[in-house]
Amino acid sequence: MRIRVTVWNEFRHEKTHQAVKDVYPDGIHQAIASFLKEAGYEVGTATLDEPEHGLTDEVLANTDVLIWWGHMAHGEVKDEIVDKVQQRILNGMGLIVLHSGHFSKIFRRMMGTNCSLTWREVGERHRLWVVAPGHPIVEGLGESFEIPHTEMYGEFFDIPQPDELIFISWFQGGEVFRSGACWYRGRGKIFYFQPGHETFPIYYQKEVQQVITNAVRWCAPVNVVDFRDLAKAPHHPQALEKFEIEA
Ligand code: ZN
Repeated sequence: MRIRVTVWNEFRHEKTHQAVKDVYPDGIHQAIASFLKEAGYEVGTATLDEPEHGLTDEVLANTDVLIWWGHMAHGEVKDEIVDKVQQRILNGMGLIVLHSGHFSKIFRRMMGTNCSLTWREVGERHRLWVVAPGHPIVEGLGESFEIPHTEMYGEFFDIPQPDELIFISWFQGGEVFRSGACWYRGRGKIFYFQPGHETFPIYYQKEVQQVITNAVRWCAPVNVVDFRDLAKAPHHPQALEKFEIEA
């Protein structure tokens, strides 16, 4: 069965800022959905201003991997939707958080930290170094790749120690940043990826598309049979094996 992806975008910058509209006329979500469709995934989109932010129970139940892009309206995402997304992740749905999504409610919820960082927006050069060359997320890449113009994100990035660190970035101004990192939460997998400032055509760059395409495959749920709902902690009065407790 094909992996089902939902690309969630706040979709505000593209309506209010001409510079962003010029780069992403149909919205960042459509640009991402388009290369993921080409890669063979089954792709839908959802945005903040749709009812339930486009993330109804049905949409969530039929999503294997959720991609999240947000920036100016993190506070408008309803807590009850965040609760539902969190439970879907803990029960196996993958989550890919892009760029300014570091401050989204769902990422901070899953990390348990502030997820703060330093930033500067002057369009400097950015080089991402692969530090996990055996990881499926770097399939098809070289030792490093460059984004010609980007927004700088710098350390300290207030995240829990990643389970797997995939990229370390260097920026022209001297900062470094853990720009690609993975975590396991319950049955779910989470990947954070830094590239994607809205005024630069970063989601049209082939290396960036390759990473996100690979990450969808890595984040997709693993098929386990009859695994229990992790929100419940069932009592097991009957042990699987016969045994006696010695007095
Ligand atoms: Zn940005």
